[in-house]
Amino acid sequence: MAVPKRRTSKKVKNQRRTHKKLHVPGMVECSNCGELTKPHHVCKSCGHYGGKEIKEA
Ligand SMILES: [Zn+2]
Repeated sequence: MAVPKRRTSKKVKNQRRTHKKLHVPGMVECSNCGELTKPHHVCKSCGHYGGKEIKEA
């Protein structure tokens, strides 16, 4: 049976399940205001999409 050659360092051990933890799935940061918003949708807080303001009056 395979045996680990080296003890896993605290750093590597603690990095194991950190993926996807930092951002909400299905949400992106608005390029204009940095607010979390849905991808391919107009930002709900500043009304920007694709580098332009598309706010409806
Ligand atoms: Zn925005």
